[in-house]
Amino acid sequence: MEIKPLITGFEPQEKPAGEEGEKPAVYDVIILGAGPAGLTAAIYTGRARLKTLVIAGSLPGGEPSNTDLVENYPGFPEGIAGMDLAQRFQSQAERFGAEIVLDEATAVDFSQEPFTIHTYSTVYKGRTVIIATGAEPRRLGVPGEDKFFGRGVSACATCDGFFYKDKRVVVVGGGDSAIAEGLFLTKFASEVVVIHRRDQLRATQILQERAFANPKMRFVWDSVVEEILGDEMVTGVRVRNVKTGETSVIETDGVFVYIGMVPKTKLFVGQLKLDEQGYIVADRHQRTNVPGVFAAGDVQDPNYRQIVIAAGTGAVAAMEAERFLSEYWQTHHAEAKPS
Ligand code: NAP
Repeated sequence: MEIKPLITGFEPQEKPAGEEGEKPAVYDVIILGAGPAGLTAAIYTGRARLKTLVIAGSLPGGEPSNTDLVENYPGFPEGIAGMDLAQRFQSQAERFGAEIVLDEATAVDFSQEPFTIHTYSTVYKGRTVIIATGAEPRRLGVPGEDKFFGRGVSACATCDGFFYKDKRVVVVGGGDSAIAEGLFLTKFASEVVVIHRRDQLRATQILQERAFANPKMRFVWDSVVEEILGDEMVTGVRVRNVKTGETSVIETDGVFVYIGMVPKTKLFVGQLKLDEQGYIVADRHQRTNVPGVFAAGDVQDPNYRQIVIAAGTGAVAAMEAERFLSEYWQTHHAEAKPS
């Protein structure tokens, strides 16, 4: 399977995908995103023998590839490294013929069929589109965060934890991500301080039990980070106790921010119905308000955001896209039947 490299700095050419001089390719299904939802959709559409393109961004895998160990995906009783799981999803999609390109969608046009997707390198046409662009980590939005991003501030313990061997780190947040990744960081760091804005964690019970039992973990309750301090690298965080108003500095070498996710939907503003938090509104058949455009995974799910659920909605979206192609497209576009 050919993987096209990410090409940046190119103006999109007004040329649909396909070889020079060849009839432009129109895909039956274009999937935006290569996390669990997008790749599961690709497995299903590939097996349905639909001509499938996955526009994967610069790195396929989605959230699992930022996760150390996935313990709650069925079929792996010992757990599986997030990166391995992501790779397995991709191999399985490729096995059934999905074409995966490492390119990024820069604009979409859902006002005309077939739908148009512009990327950095070209323009693609699809009879249906499944949006599975996921969500990205929410930023704290405090002074120092941008300045020290990559120099002590991170949103990925799996990627950066290794650099904190015998160093002190803080983790901001009280959800599953903060606690699971905080526990992972105890493998390297000398101390992991969890700073949470309330006095109770949101994380699931089993993670809480492990965290409270871990001698390297310490908790600073009812507190928010107001500033990230440093010179060349991070040296500390200024925190404020939300109950007393008192501020103090916690010295640290690293700050890992896990305060939830925001959906990646900027491209779809004005094209699709979004809710007040920016998530795509999809029904239980994963249909958006535009017939032929489906959404799956975290981009339309403010509540569950689990790999198994993303994969499930990806499968539903794929089955609905298949149904749409056989019913709607063949009725309305008899002259251009799906290949
Ligand atoms: P989350 O569950 O939304 O938790 C976000 C945490 O950050 C909450 O504790 C929240 O505080 C805090 N927070 C939010 N905004 C903040 C701000 N501006 N300043 C300070 N703190 C802030 O997000 P998540 O932990 O990334 O998890 C996302 C989803 O992935 C969840 O559904 C989770 O179950 C799932 N997940 C599952 C696993 C697993 O092993 N099963 C692992 C990782 C993620 P409050 O508690 O006060 O709201």
